[in-house]
Amino acid sequence: MLNMTPGPTSIHENVRLSLSKDYNNSDLERTFVDFYAGLAKKIGKLMNTANNVLILCGEGMLALEAACISLIEKGDRVLCIDNGIFGNGFKELIEMAGGTAVMYTRDYESPINIEELENFLKKDSNFKIATLVHCETPTAITNPVDKICPLLNRYGIISVVDSVSAIGGENIEIDNWNMDVVLGASQKCISAPTGLCFLSISQTAWDKILNRRNPITSYYLNLSNYKDYEKNRWFPHTMPSHLIYALDTAINRMIAEEQFVSRHERMAKAVRAAIIKSGLKLFGKSGYSNTVTAVHVPEGITFQQIFRDMLNLDVMIGGSIGEFENKLIRIGHMGENCNEESISLALAALDRVLRTNGLLTGELLNHLFAKELV
Ligand SMILES: *Cc1c(COP(=O)(O)O)cnc(C)c1O
Repeated sequence: MLNMTPGPTSIHENVRLSLSKDYNNSDLERTFVDFYAGLAKKIGKLMNTANNVLILCGEGMLALEAACISLIEKGDRVLCIDNGIFGNGFKELIEMAGGTAVMYTRDYESPINIEELENFLKKDSNFKIATLVHCETPTAITNPVDKICPLLNRYGIISVVDSVSAIGGENIEIDNWNMDVVLGASQKCISAPTGLCFLSISQTAWDKILNRRNPITSYYLNLSNYKDYEKNRWFPHTMPSHLIYALDTAINRMIAEEQFVSRHERMAKAVRAAIIKSGLKLFGKSGYSNTVTAVHVPEGITFQQIFRDMLNLDVMIGGSIGEFENKLIRIGHMGENCNEESISLALAALDRVLRTNGLLTGELLNHLFAKELV
């Protein structure tokens, strides 16, 4: 089965083999803390930051919840930047942490417009924290975090950025762009096993976490419990060493390749060009993602039928969620799935399914990777 969903993605054999070794006891092994710290530094380097990076046990949602629970407290006004389903979903986490979510809801088909956001902040910038999403995976729209985060920073607002489906596929310069808290996970563009997330945390964010009026009402999600692990040579719980070694192998593959962002950019461009040429309709007006492409389900067929028929051809694609459920087809081109062969096979299967149903006018595969398109 070819997995072309927007995560969890396929895992390279070398990464899978890292799971099969015996790693002794990560609580007592003297070298484990140093190994963890070294991996955290490598992840920081990929995201262009010297900030503290923590790797936590739990998939992507855990990073979102840990950031909210640790940073936000009762009485905090939090700007919830919402131009997609994950952006909107932060509202629940903000409120669960006791904060007041002030919704900044905009068009789900477009990236956040920076002038418009600036005009909004000129009138009201009394926020401690803002939450936003780098790549809105359900709709394949990418936000200009390179402009949003410096703007929030100028207003003294701590940014919490969900970059779970962008890290590894989009350029990210945490330090240059003044990003405070950036959240990633193992199972999207990194193509490591599901079960780990990572957070890059700026000094400003640490100051907020460590100087709260009220204690953090969690043990597992309390980031301050992890902060001094290196000095204390201690973690708040047993670390899942197999997952962490596998993540290290996956990160090393990315470091060896170097060109992982431009590969994602090139493949995404090719997919979009093929979709447009075939007569299918892309979702969104601009800000198309490097890591996932969302296409309207054409009239005359349901998503479920496309999904089932493609499964019969051994290709799995994604649908969408929330209000876009059954309305969009999503092709993930992340990490190990982001290569010419996998994309050609996926589009060939989609072409076959739609053609069999008399629903394709153009050719999805014509000139897919022709020079003029990519
Ligand atoms: C996948 C994803 C998450 C994390 O969800 P999981 O439960 O780890 O799958 C968070 N945010 C975005 C934008 C995502 O794409």
